[in-house]
Amino acid sequence: MSAFDGVTSRIILTGRAFPLRRMSSSTDPSILTALRQQMVASQLRARGVRDERVLAVMARVPRHEFAPAPCRDQAYEDHPLLIREGQTISQPYIVALMLEALALSPADRILEVGTGSGYVTALLAELAAQVFSVERHAVLADSARDLLARFGYSNAKVIVGDGTQGFAESAPYDAIIVSAGAPEVPGALLAQLAEGGRMIIPVGSPDSQQLQLIHMESGQPRTTLRELCRFVPLISGPP
Ligand code: SAH
Repeated sequence: MSAFDGVTSRIILTGRAFPLRRMSSSTDPSILTALRQQMVASQLRARGVRDERVLAVMARVPRHEFAPAPCRDQAYEDHPLLIREGQTISQPYIVALMLEALALSPADRILEVGTGSGYVTALLAELAAQVFSVERHAVLADSARDLLARFGYSNAKVIVGDGTQGFAESAPYDAIIVSAGAPEVPGALLAQLAEGGRMIIPVGSPDSQQLQLIHMESGQPRTTLRELCRFVPLISGPP
């Protein structure tokens, strides 16, 4: 795995609330549900995530279903997961931080850049009214689309394309989440953020970025610098 894709500072990785046994090859739904609840308690709530809607949805959505078979047994562990095309599903904690920062409401329309497995898309589809998710790798987009349809997320649309250009067709968006590290905030994304909208995006070098939370206020972006992190790169143009 080339990138850690997780928060690298301001976080003390605490010991787990209770021992987490690796449930190798376990597909027992009750074990997976228990592991998911434990993930929410020990990795999210214990580290300060407070948004009850985010906590509830992460306790409900089966992250293991979005993980490739070889690492499904690690789906509720405290690290990112490698998926196809050298990409990753982010560490649960950073997913929760980003979703919480966006302060989503059920009526929101969301743009996601970097569908990857579709896991975060599923969370967004539960938290908001409509999700438009752009992914540059067709193979990932196809697989995410299939999974989202299988789980009944009819309010999520996956588009193959260059997410640095956003998805102008359905703009403006109440919230934009970018799940890949950008050298700078793409102008097209700022232009597609609604008045009162929020965007969360990791910005920096390929090795180290910082989450930026941007609020669009009176037509002007107001930026708050948040946690340091490391994501796979946001890459313009076709794969
Ligand atoms: N949140 C995802 C993980 C995203 S990993 C999940 O839950 O699985 C980052 C993703 O961004 C990768 O799938 C990568 O292919 C995609 N990506 C990188 N640059 C992109 C771009 N310009 N447009 C769209 N997707 C991009």
